[in-house]
Amino acid sequence: MTANLASFLYLVSGVLFIMALRGLSHPTTSRQGNFYGMVGMGIALATTLLYATPSFGGLLLIVGGIAVGGTFGAVVAKRIAMTAMPQLVAAFHSLVGLAAVMVAAAALYSPESFGIGEVGAIHAQALVEMSLGVAIGAITFTGSIIAFLKLDGRMSGKPILLPLRHVVNAGLAIALVVLVVMLVAGQSTTVFWLIVLLSLVLGVLIIIPIGGADMPVVVSMLNSYSGWAAAGIGFTLGNLALIITGALVGSSGAILSYIMCKGMNRSFISVILGGFGGETAVAVDDGLDRTVKQGSADDAAYLMQNAQKVIIVPGYGMAVAQAQHALRELSDKLKAHGVEVKYAIHPVAGRMPGHMNVLLAEAQVPYDEVFELEDINSEFSQADIAYVIGANDVTNPAARDDKTSPIYGMPILDVDKARTCLFVKRSLGSGYAGIDNTLFYKDGTMMLLGDAKKMTEDIVKAMED
Ligand code: NDP
Repeated sequence: MTANLASFLYLVSGVLFIMALRGLSHPTTSRQGNFYGMVGMGIALATTLLYATPSFGGLLLIVGGIAVGGTFGAVVAKRIAMTAMPQLVAAFHSLVGLAAVMVAAAALYSPESFGIGEVGAIHAQALVEMSLGVAIGAITFTGSIIAFLKLDGRMSGKPILLPLRHVVNAGLAIALVVLVVMLVAGQSTTVFWLIVLLSLVLGVLIIIPIGGADMPVVVSMLNSYSGWAAAGIGFTLGNLALIITGALVGSSGAILSYIMCKGMNRSFISVILGGFGGETAVAVDDGLDRTVKQGSADDAAYLMQNAQKVIIVPGYGMAVAQAQHALRELSDKLKAHGVEVKYAIHPVAGRMPGHMNVLLAEAQVPYDEVFELEDINSEFSQADIAYVIGANDVTNPAARDDKTSPIYGMPILDVDKARTCLFVKRSLGSGYAGIDNTLFYKDGTMMLLGDAKKMTEDIVKAMED
């Protein structure tokens, strides 16, 4: 295969990746988007194999790698619960970071195989690209491992705030720059491994002060880093496909982080400098009457059947309980009774953007019944019932009314403006941000304490009876 043809095919796969991203931006086109992505990746892999024409031994290694990695990826993706997706993504990012370090090491020890010079005489430009790739890769590796441990509950979600951490991090960053200059000047392997070591430490130090609630933003940020690391390595290898995909992953991860920060009304800098989350709120003695009105499935069925308009607000608890199918059944029953049903989705409901949309689509909820926050918020005041199922922080009025609240300023779904708010969750405990929700104690709220799926099924049963 000629170099021109290879570049053309890489460009085709790049265009397919862009079409994939576009398709994935809406549930109706996401299957198509996935398909474009798979075809693009297929073309990129085939082109690389045909262009590089590896030896038989090399080919065996590549096929073996694809078989082992592909089987592992397929099995894990099939088994993983939707709620564990953020930690899975974090775990996979750590591998991208590690791969960037490995490729850079291979290029350093065997530059002639990469066409970037000889041992001790590597082109300066390649050395700069290599050191950037290896530093970002190593930071991504350990940073993603910490993010995985926090998200998976294997490590406390509380921020770990070391004394003088900003000074230490800045010192390490300066040391890294000095080492990169030394590597370019002297091409020493010791300096290379020192860069790896410092970057690994920096990855841990950057992520440990960040609180559990901010972790999904961090995962998206690490996703962005891993993209830039891959693009850096793409320059070292002179591989156009890797440069294009790396840049796409890098920029889409950065945009996603921005969207999440906007959804939570937090600045990216404040997330990086250490946030909140991981704790459970203790109800403070603020003079508020903390009595709750508790109801049963029968009460909820009665209220809902006699309503004209019901707005359903799903959150993380719906995902945990896998209540989406029961919810769909409930809304079918209500519609059969002539009740108007709509779904309201907060941009950061669940644990990743689009989390709720995916689950509702899985239960075949019609897309035209699902609305974004800004399109439905004004309708709560005309709704008879807001059925909040496993959502908490995204409905907390403190974000709107309490200037001292850590989530003050975050846009919320105005469920308290509905005539009655039916709140399904298992306890009066807090959500991910660890903040008490005063909505539980309001007059118009009826708590339906129990598992989201079981409670919804019981309401359907009560309607049938
Ligand atoms: P929350 O985490 O605020 O609350 C979820 C609630 O679900 C919990 O209070 C829990 O209460 C309840 N729950 C858990 N399991 C069940 C179950 N089996 N049945 C019924 N209820 C259950 O979720 P929200 O969706 O309201 O908010 C998302 C949070 O995640 C926000 O703080 C947001 O900032 C954060 N976040 C989200 C991101 C995203 O992209 N989506 C990104 C970054 C952060 P109980 O234990 O009492 O049942």
